[in-house]
Amino acid sequence: MSTSTTQSSRKKSIAKPDNSPLPGQAINARPMAGDVIYERILGSIMEHRLTPGTKLVEEKLAGIFGVNRTRVREVLARLSHEGLITTIPNRGAFVASPTPDEARAIFGARRLLEPALLRHLCEHTQPAHIAQLREHVAQEARARENNDRRAIIRLSGEFHIRIADMVGNPVMSKMMRELASLTCLIIVLYDSPTMPACAHDEHGRIIDAIAAGRAEDAVAAMIGHLHHIEEVLDMSAPPSEDEDLEAMLGMV
Ligand SMILES: [Zn+2]
Repeated sequence: MSTSTTQSSRKKSIAKPDNSPLPGQAINARPMAGDVIYERILGSIMEHRLTPGTKLVEEKLAGIFGVNRTRVREVLARLSHEGLITTIPNRGAFVASPTPDEARAIFGARRLLEPALLRHLCEHTQPAHIAQLREHVAQEARARENNDRRAIIRLSGEFHIRIADMVGNPVMSKMMRELASLTCLIIVLYDSPTMPACAHDEHGRIIDAIAAGRAEDAVAAMIGHLHHIEEVLDMSAPPSEDEDLEAMLGMV
């Protein structure tokens, strides 16, 4: 785990009292909706700002988002249901920290789900799908050119979610979303500094196979791609500890 690169910036703690308004948080502003808070926390996980094992204190989050604790609790329950948060009795809620066995199970699930999605998509491909996927990969390339690590990580996960969305089955989409988020947690826990996200050319190869109607080539490319993500992870690394919630949520 490459904690050394980020540890120095993590140690600032929040000095203000938990319920005080934050800079830029108008007193009369409408309370933030649960969906917005959910997306903010999920986005922070996807972009590797909110790290596994981080304690999510209800009153602190309520202060950060300017809402009451009930709303925070509802959002945490939703994230917990999706496996992204672990609740420990008498200790509170923590960003999930998948064990190596759980991490392997998540990749195993992806290797079963994603080929099925690709086979279905190949049977029902529309030109618009190919254009959208190519545009997505172009966005990934731009993020790489700009060295925008957060965008690279987010777009890498979203590529897989877009394929699931194109299949048009909301249950599959939801499963893919959860697996992609959990994969982000695994990568931040066990990452290798040399390969933080999906390799740049592999998404393109998957699209080429879909565009050519070669379903089994697309499946082989996807399975190889998932293996490449998994094989660079160092599952022996200990989970990181992080306390700077406000910064991790992108609120400062
Ligand atoms: Zn990928």
